[in-house]
Formats: sequence, C-alpha cells, structure tokens
Amino acid sequence: MTDVIVAGAGLAGLVAARHLAADGVRVRVLEATADVGGRVRSEQVDGFTLDRGFQVLFTAYPAAQAELDLDSLDLRSFRPGAILARPGERTTLADPLRDPSALVPSLLNRNVTVADKLRILALRRTLARKPLAEIMAADDCSIDEYLRRKGFSGKFRRRFAAPFYGGITLDRSLSSSRLVFEYTFKMLSEGEIVVPAEGMGAIPRQLAKTAREAGARIDTGRTVDVVSPDGDGVTVETDGETITADAAVVATDPKTAAGLTGCAGIPTEGDGCVTQHFSLPASERLDTDRRLLLNTVDARPNTVAPISEVAPECAPHDSELLSATFLGTPEETDDELAAEVRETLDSWYPEHDFSELELLETHRIPFAQFAQPPGFRKRLPDVDDPDGAVYLAGEYTEWSAIQGAMESGRRAAQAARRDL
Ligand SMILES: Cc1cc2nc3c(=O)[nH]c(=O)nc-3n(C[C@H](O)[C@H](O)[C@H](O)COP(=O)(O)OP(=O)(O)OC[C@H]3O[C@@H](n4cnc5c(N)ncnc54)[C@H](O)[C@@H]3O)c2cc1C
Repeated sequence: MTDVIVAGAGLAGLVAARHLAADGVRVRVLEATADVGGRVRSEQVDGFTLDRGFQVLFTAYPAAQAELDLDSLDLRSFRPGAILARPGERTTLADPLRDPSALVPSLLNRNVTVADKLRILALRRTLARKPLAEIMAADDCSIDEYLRRKGFSGKFRRRFAAPFYGGITLDRSLSSSRLVFEYTFKMLSEGEIVVPAEGMGAIPRQLAKTAREAGARIDTGRTVDVVSPDGDGVTVETDGETITADAAVVATDPKTAAGLTGCAGIPTEGDGCVTQHFSLPASERLDTDRRLLLNTVDARPNTVAPISEVAPECAPHDSELLSATFLGTPEETDDELAAEVRETLDSWYPEHDFSELELLETHRIPFAQFAQPPGFRKRLPDVDDPDGAVYLAGEYTEWSAIQGAMESGRRAAQAARRDL
C-alpha cells in the first residue's frame, strides 16, 4: 500500500484525500486547526448557525455535482435576482426567465435601462452556448471593461454589477478578471444559489465523512511545518513527529503552501472582507422574498443577506438572522460597523424598527480570496509544479471559489496517482 500525506483539510484537501483513498491509497490528512473546512465553516452562537463570512454554493458548479451529495445537504435556495437598495428606495431585479413572477417589477426597475435588461437576456443565451473550458481560456480583461464592451450602461455597472459582482470578487471597482464574471453568470443562469440548512460548514463535514468512509484518516490540530522531497518519497514534519510517505499533497492556504513548497508561482496577494451577523425580532422580518439586498450607493455594507428567510433552520423561530458584508479590511470597531449597518437598514426600510437589531458576531477575514486580475490564470501554478513527489491542491491552481478548490483537489489526486 502507498502512503500519501495531505496537509490541510479545506475543500481541496478533503476532495484530494477522498479520491486517493477511493483509489486504494493509504491517506492521512493533517489539519492545523481543530476542525475541517478551511475557509468554509459554520459555528453555533446562541441558537443561530453563523457561516464564517457570507458564502453560498452554486448548484451548477460541475465540482458540486461531481463531489457532493447535494440531496443530503438539505439545500435552501436564494430567489434568483436581487433587491437594489438605496435610502428610501428598494427595487427588484430578477431574471424573468427563471422567475416569471418577477417579470413586471424587473421590467419596471428604473435602476437599469431597458437596453440593459435585453443585454442580460442576450448574454444569458451567449453564455449558455459557451463551454466552461472556453470561458477559462478566452482573452481576458476586467469585468468593468467586459461590461462596457458589451454595451451595459453606467447605471447597470454601478447599481447592480458593482455590489453584486463586487460581492463575489470582493472588489466593487470590478477590476477582477472577466473570467469570474462569465463563469458565475453562467452558473447563476443554469442552477441555484443555495446554502445547506445546517450552514455552509455542512459541505466540508460531508466531504470529511465520505473521505473517512473511503479509508482516509483525518487528524485535526496537527500543523505541518516541513514538507521535503526525499529520494522517491517525501518527509513531512509535524508537531515533533517526522513522517515519511510516498507523496504529499499540500492543500493549505496559498501563503502557507508557498512557504512549505517554495513554489514561486503560488499567488499570495488577496482580498478580504468583514461579515457581521445580526438577530432581529421575527416581527421586523425584511420580507425580501429570499433575495439578496445590494447596496447601490456604497459598500457600507455592500450586501445584506436574509439568511433565515432562506434557511429558517439557522435561527430560533422567534428571530431573524441577517448578515451584512463590508469589503476589504475596514478599521472601525465591531460596534462602529454595526452602527453603520443599523443606519443603512433604517434608510432602506424606514417603516421598520431596528432598535432591537443585535450584533451576534463579527468575522474579520483578511484573506478570503487570492487576487484575480485580468490574465491571472496564465500565472497560476499547476498541481504538480513542486519538485519531487509533492503536489498542490488549492483554489489558487484554478480560480478562487468552491468550484476551484474542489476541482484542484481532484486534479492533485489524479496527478499523485499517475506518478505513484
Ligand atoms: C468570506 C468568504 C466568502 C466566500 N464566498 C464564496 C462563495 O460564495 N462561493 C464560492 O464558490 N467561494 C467562496 N469563497 C471562496 C472559497 O471558500 C475558497 O476558495 C475555498 O474554500 C478554498 O478552499 P481551499 O481548500 O483551497 O483552501 P482553505 O479553505 O484555505 O483550506 C486550507 C486548509 O489548510 C489548513 N492549513 C493551513 N496551514 C496548515 C499547516 N501548516 N498544516 C496543516 N494544515 C494547514 C487550514 O487550516 C485550512 O483548513 C469564499 C471565501 C471566503 C473566505
């Protein structure tokens, strides 16, 4: 039997471990923290289930369909489209093909032009025909440039694209690669935006369970300090233990992976965000019809997500759970940010009373995604770039998303199996 060490139990490491174990390889996963999941985690606070940052799964991701048992995740879906909010005004913008009941409010929405609405439908048709491989390989430019070239108005770019795609890329200036726009736009047209009833942490828990069932051993609280290629195999040092193995898959965050492997191509610059979770009495429910609220004016906060309207299991029955996300790494205290959220909600919903809006938790995530400027894909490392029997698994070998992480894990396992 062959031994492979996997360093890191985020989505990429768990998928790699499962594939290797299913192929009969003896796998041991070493995870530095107390739990699996990496950047995808949930925690329980006073009867609420809080994800670490606002995160969603797109069911159309090929890796979600290949790697996850979506039925057992008990998924709860956001309604397609969004509510565009500014002081004193809330309007609905939906995809009438996916949500015919939203046709009238969407057509009446004056935040984007009629020509923009027709362009959305045309883009939907174009991208439906464009294979994902072509989207990944096409010539690159920024999202903003892409939308300009397609003729979208400044209103559309500022009021919808900036908060919506700025929320996905954590960059409201839309300077990220158009690849992320095209890929996610296609996924949104072809599937649903969901969260598991038990929070996003249910995704890595399911992956860990299936990896264990395939035979992988997962040790948490074990930090890998050194990975060195050694003759035909590798030596891995962790918390005083030295382990020799036939191969190692480094599935840590990119900065740690760069340190462990010395691989120069690993991107280490990234973008962050701050997500605050709030409880609100059920009587003050926002009635978003399960749609995301986008701030059309500024990023303070950029988005508000009606979590318990989408997944009622995430809050006690007499309370609502909302999350509000700020982009970047704001320096204000938790209470100062919470005061801004209250002020913004007051201005969006003057008919509501937010005096009982209570801050439950603030998650400050300085490195949520690696930076994805135009052309970034050409500079990414491949899973087998490190010397010797060392492989990389991490979203940074593909693109920054759950899809990228799981696809990378599968490819790393494949490369390790090929060479062993
Ligand atoms: C706030 C936020 C929102 C997001 N929203 C979305 C979204 O809506 N949709 C989407 O598709 N993607 C989203 N993403 C991106 C997605 O979550 C990530 O791309 C993906 O989870 C990365 O997985 P990974 O396995 O590559 O890395 P990680 O999740 O970083 O996993 C690395 C693991 O390695 C462990 N580790 C680190 N160092 C060591 C060491 N020395 N020894 C052992 N273990 C170590 C870490 O503890 C961690 O468990 C979001 C990310 C964040 C943070």
